[in-house]
Amino acid sequence: MTSPAPTHATSPADKELHKPSNFLRQIIEKDLAEGTYASRRWGGSPGDAAHHASGQPDPAKVRLRFPPEPNGYLHIGHAKSICLNFGLARDYGGVCHLRFDDTNPEKEDTEYVDSIKDAVQWLGFDWHNAGESNLYQASDYFDFMYRAAEYLIEAGHAYVDEQTADEMRHNRGDFGHPGTDSPFRSRTPAENLARFREMRDGKLPDGAAVLRAKIDMASPNINMRDPAIYRIRRAHHHNTGDKWCIYPMYTFAHPIEDALEQITHSICTLEFEDQRPFYDWLLDRLAEGDLIATPHPRQYEFARLNLTYVLTSKRKLAQLVNEGKVSGWDDPRMPTIVGLRRRGYTPESLQLFAERIGVTKSDSWIDYSTLEGALRDTLDPTAPRAMAVLDPVKLVLTNWDEVMGEGTLDDCSAPIHPHHPELGKRDFKIGKEVWIERTDYEEIPPKGFFRLFPAHVNASGQPIAASKVRLKYGHVIECIGAVMDAEGHITEVQARLIPDTKSGTPGSDSVKVKGVITWVGVNDAVPAEVRLYDRLFKEAQPEGGGVDFLTNLNTGSLKVMTAYVEPSLAEGGAIEAKADDKFQFERHGYFVADRVDHAVGKPVFNLAVGLKDSWVNK
Ligand code: ATP
Ligand code: MG
Repeated sequence: MTSPAPTHATSPADKELHKPSNFLRQIIEKDLAEGTYASRRWGGSPGDAAHHASGQPDPAKVRLRFPPEPNGYLHIGHAKSICLNFGLARDYGGVCHLRFDDTNPEKEDTEYVDSIKDAVQWLGFDWHNAGESNLYQASDYFDFMYRAAEYLIEAGHAYVDEQTADEMRHNRGDFGHPGTDSPFRSRTPAENLARFREMRDGKLPDGAAVLRAKIDMASPNINMRDPAIYRIRRAHHHNTGDKWCIYPMYTFAHPIEDALEQITHSICTLEFEDQRPFYDWLLDRLAEGDLIATPHPRQYEFARLNLTYVLTSKRKLAQLVNEGKVSGWDDPRMPTIVGLRRRGYTPESLQLFAERIGVTKSDSWIDYSTLEGALRDTLDPTAPRAMAVLDPVKLVLTNWDEVMGEGTLDDCSAPIHPHHPELGKRDFKIGKEVWIERTDYEEIPPKGFFRLFPAHVNASGQPIAASKVRLKYGHVIECIGAVMDAEGHITEVQARLIPDTKSGTPGSDSVKVKGVITWVGVNDAVPAEVRLYDRLFKEAQPEGGGVDFLTNLNTGSLKVMTAYVEPSLAEGGAIEAKADDKFQFERHGYFVADRVDHAVGKPVFNLAVGLKDSWVNK
């Protein structure tokens, strides 16, 4: 093992961020150390070689980009890519561009464009840098792309092919067989140029011809067998209108977008690995012709995020929305950034998640619990605590009037956060009647159940005494039993208050208990809607074995509860819940006040994530 070079310890990544290294960091650090991009100039905006040559030395040490296609809402996979690209730019004195990859003519959807901008900013990143807005749209580069295509034709690197689609497919060959040259491959540059201009001028019908790069029909990499770079398609484009009836192919457009924007490290997912030779071939040709600045960008691939129980494809998520399987793109069960946000995820939790999973070069599945763990770990230190009873049944303290006096309410309090006494306390009252969880009472308790049960005879015939439990932050009580309706449904649980056991008072520990239960006083409880979410799919790999993911939908993924929460969450309370505020409901997990439906007088809480193994007596 070699010890790290002395400079390494003071690299920005290590010094300021203590981030674990990864292969992309190593590549960037090497490029910075070797000055690979030190000579680059920046024309103040994207442009060709001459534009950048007339500019200043690039103030950004590296340039990265996040290039979404605005055809849906971003999901957790995009969040990883955003954290990666913007994070690397931030850590290495660079800039990350936000580029809408809109070269595919589709109907404009400003809804998606706006939501993508929101998502990036909400995650904590910005495309502005030193007064410049690095927000671009790829369709602004159509003129240059056309010029690049004509250049390739003139230099003998591209030709117009008029074979049928079938012929083209057939002549491409396959892994075992080299392709066959198109009969149009030997056209002269002049013929190709004339024909390409006819394509542009609308003289040929859709699909009648394509422009192809002239590379190598025998290449072992099929992507290098004269890939198509322009096609005819009469389609209205939201930015360029009807100006064009030919559009560049993605594999041609993307390297050019990177080059015009002076991107240094173009990071993409592994499925583009086989495109890298073409990426380099194209940019090498355009650099030879002085069309783009040098050194040109390089592409690096990392494994896309696959998360268990989650779909990461905008198209498939759109299907869930369009078929009404969820309430919308921001349904809290959706892995979209808007869905995660509504579920209670914070930018910090998603950044932490991205950091923990790191980047790798081989595909794998990340367990959903890693995402949940990141949320728990970021909420635990900050979220105010509160008591909530999600499935309430009334508990009556039969001797209350006798012990405490009729109608008495006794003050109780609890810390807002157990590790931050400076945050203060929440106050609430206990009286003769409190709400408790229905599951906290058992007529005949199963083994290991330490909550409320009456005196009874167990399965082995032994008499068992009634349980004693503490009402958290309140008193110790001893169970009596329950009142049932005609169907055997429990309508009321009864217990006796044990005097002088109130939490925090002298001698309160004299009665030992095995269980502690949460509760809310009937007198000051606040009714609330609580939405309990579970995974949207029953299977860890919703499409595993090639099945339709719709057959794997978990129909029980949403339960709506009419719950009671403690009064300090209400308007004016110590921890008044406003939309988007997160709390830990003690024993239950982390909840967020729904950003859409929560309102004063009508509280709505979403389960963000449960507490890990929190309640031993569960
Ligand atoms: P989708 O199929 O959901 O539309 P996409 O890859 O086509 O995904 P784009 O909008 O083209 O979506 O992607 C923008 C960027 O986000 C790309 O650089 C892509 O590599 C990255 N990205 C998309 N999905 C993931 C994922 N699951 N993991 C990591 N990065 C991703
Ligand atoms: Mg896509």
